[in-house]
Amino acid sequence: MALFLVFMGPPGAGKSTMAKKLVSDYGLAHFSTGDIIREKLATDPEFKAEFDALVKAGKLLDDERTKQLLLEKMRASNISNGFILDGYPRTVNQAKDLERIMQELGKELNAVIYFSLPERVAIERLTKRLQCPKCGKIYNLASVKPKRANICDDCGTKLVAREDDEAKAIRKRFREYEEKTKPVVDYYRNKGLLYEIDVNDTVEENYKKMKTLVESLKNKQ
Ligand SMILES: [Zn+2]
Repeated sequence: MALFLVFMGPPGAGKSTMAKKLVSDYGLAHFSTGDIIREKLATDPEFKAEFDALVKAGKLLDDERTKQLLLEKMRASNISNGFILDGYPRTVNQAKDLERIMQELGKELNAVIYFSLPERVAIERLTKRLQCPKCGKIYNLASVKPKRANICDDCGTKLVAREDDEAKAIRKRFREYEEKTKPVVDYYRNKGLLYEIDVNDTVEENYKKMKTLVESLKNKQ
């Protein structure tokens, strides 16, 4: 049974890692509007001219054109096992466009999977820096890891994400993402298509949860 999935989630939620695993285990196609636009820019000079003019005018690709690009790409791809769509839709209008795309393809969306992650964890993952609030020692999850997860080696205090400009910027992106996408999340929840997956765990554990969900979706068909 084919699976047609939309991935949603804030920066740092690990969507692309999860997508890669599902693609290899289930033979799904993987689409992101960012990749499609980049590919098109590299191969289609006419599109590049159109796009450059938009950027110069301070505009973005409109919904209609984005929809066309997606449909074109999906038609040219092997989607017999289904696909994962990442980074789209971002608005309710685009969600409605996606319905039209699915209609054109003669397929149906199975689920919108929302990767839920506490803001604190997203910041830790993206900055990889933790600090002891008591003694001030700084850890880096990529290099100087604490011996016990989230606990200061020196004084045993629970570590927190280091608050710096980078963390502040990530916090801002995180909140913007949640605010902007809330209407889309609500839209899919009302349609009964929304599934939340808690990704506050190791990649292996998160993927186990994902597989359980995917298997249950397959059985539902
Ligand atoms: Zn300490």
